[in-house]
Amino acid sequence: MTASIWWIRRDLRLADNHALDAALAASEAVIPLFVLDPVLLQSSYGSEKRLAFLLEGLRQLQQALAKRGGRLVVRRGEPVEVLAGVLEKSGANAIFAHADHSPYARTRDQAVDARLPIQWTDGPAIRPPGSILKSDGGAYQVYTPFRRRWTEHPPPHPGELSPAPERIRSPELATEGLPAKPRPADEMRFAAGEAAAQQRLDAFTGGPDAPIFRYAERRDRVDLDGTSRLSPYLRFGMLSPRAAAVAAYQAMERAPDAAGRKGAQTWLHELIWRDFYLHILHHYPQVRQQAFRDDYTDIDWRNDPAEFEAWTAGRTGYPIVDAAMRQLSQTGWMHNRARMIVASFLTKDLLIDWRWGERWFMKQLIDGDPAANNGGWQWSAGTGTDAAPYFRIFNPITQGQKHDPHGDYIRRWVPELRAVPGEFLHTPWMMPDEVQTRSKCIIGGDYPPPVVDHRAARARALERYAQAKDAR
Ligand code: FAD
Repeated sequence: MTASIWWIRRDLRLADNHALDAALAASEAVIPLFVLDPVLLQSSYGSEKRLAFLLEGLRQLQQALAKRGGRLVVRRGEPVEVLAGVLEKSGANAIFAHADHSPYARTRDQAVDARLPIQWTDGPAIRPPGSILKSDGGAYQVYTPFRRRWTEHPPPHPGELSPAPERIRSPELATEGLPAKPRPADEMRFAAGEAAAQQRLDAFTGGPDAPIFRYAERRDRVDLDGTSRLSPYLRFGMLSPRAAAVAAYQAMERAPDAAGRKGAQTWLHELIWRDFYLHILHHYPQVRQQAFRDDYTDIDWRNDPAEFEAWTAGRTGYPIVDAAMRQLSQTGWMHNRARMIVASFLTKDLLIDWRWGERWFMKQLIDGDPAANNGGWQWSAGTGTDAAPYFRIFNPITQGQKHDPHGDYIRRWVPELRAVPGEFLHTPWMMPDEVQTRSKCIIGGDYPPPVVDHRAARARALERYAQAKDAR
């Protein structure tokens, strides 16, 4: 019986999986293999919540495979050694895997490529890096022309999405058990696995009143459930990004009106942002260490540890920032608008190096992804592609008023502020003493005063950014 290895990485799914499809086409039996790579497990970027989600996703995959006759093999060790060992032991003659784009993944994969018979299929992007290039053959550095070129390609067709195979034959091979999850399942707000991902996609894009049709108008409201929350599933490939794009195009066609069509199109554009940052990381791997734009490599950051600590703990005294940071530490997820607000606050108001924030997010986020996270941080810090000009600094008070107009988000995540009247909710330090007493929220006791004065901090940031630019 001929056999191939399907090396599972960021593609924890059976449907529309080109590496699995290729392995099935190449041989009679397939060995679905997941390698517990100690480097990734122990890396300082490792997050307990993300690891728990991954392990639960693997458990779900194991069950889905078992229903079809397949067996998941789990081995701990250095990937090239594990793969060589499984090849030898099983007599398999080929390995199939999705490409990946982070610098670590590429070094690892080059080592495998040099020693073993591996064939790569498309990776985590809808359109792989190299497929969207400028007319001179160079890589794009700006999103809008990238998107234009991206959308010139024919939309992915539903017929191209391969269904999950009905049967998978796997030889009997020894496997390690999956490690225990670091957090109990009931603390996880995202049910892991391909079935849960598909349900969420269907709920977001299906039916005449699908939320996708209102996405354009609701996506910036942090108090509403107006976005898909599919990012953790896309992160681990529990959902095919092509399937998400197909659903977006279908919703554009089905939309009941122009607003609905705009909603679906805006959502598609977010998926293209995801592709864009994957391409950026592929073509410019140095962004993991340094600013994308040379102008801002030498910002004189303040990097005050106590202020960083206040930011991570959600105790900056700015309610929208604190609500967002607590949502992150409690759930492992944060709304996109909130990510932009807290990132602007850290880099501009506190003048703390964006790399500190990037690392903290990677520790906390279930969807933590080197490409999107780096792109988001550099965008917010004004050092990246498409950077918002450095003088565009988010005001944490007006951002809160605009995107959490009734204060529901703040009240949910910052219980100390629950009884604070609406007029003071975004500026609790302005409460007169008797209102503080009545609201059971004493500033400096129950809730901190602002860690910096926004106006003064803004002026300071403008000065430091201008100095960095002028010094070049
Ligand atoms: P939706 O609004 O429903 O969008 C659909 C999908 O499009 C998302 O699931 C995501 O895969 C993709 N997407 C949406 N916005 C972006 C974007 N700006 N950049 C890249 N992809 C996008 N996203 C991550 O997946 N992982 C990260 O580690 C990450 N870190 C971020 C850090 C900062 C500082 C910022 C500003 C943004 C970051 N994002 C990251 C992007 C974005 O915030 C999340 O993708 C989004 O909030 C996920 O929620 P959703 O699934 O409901 O998104």
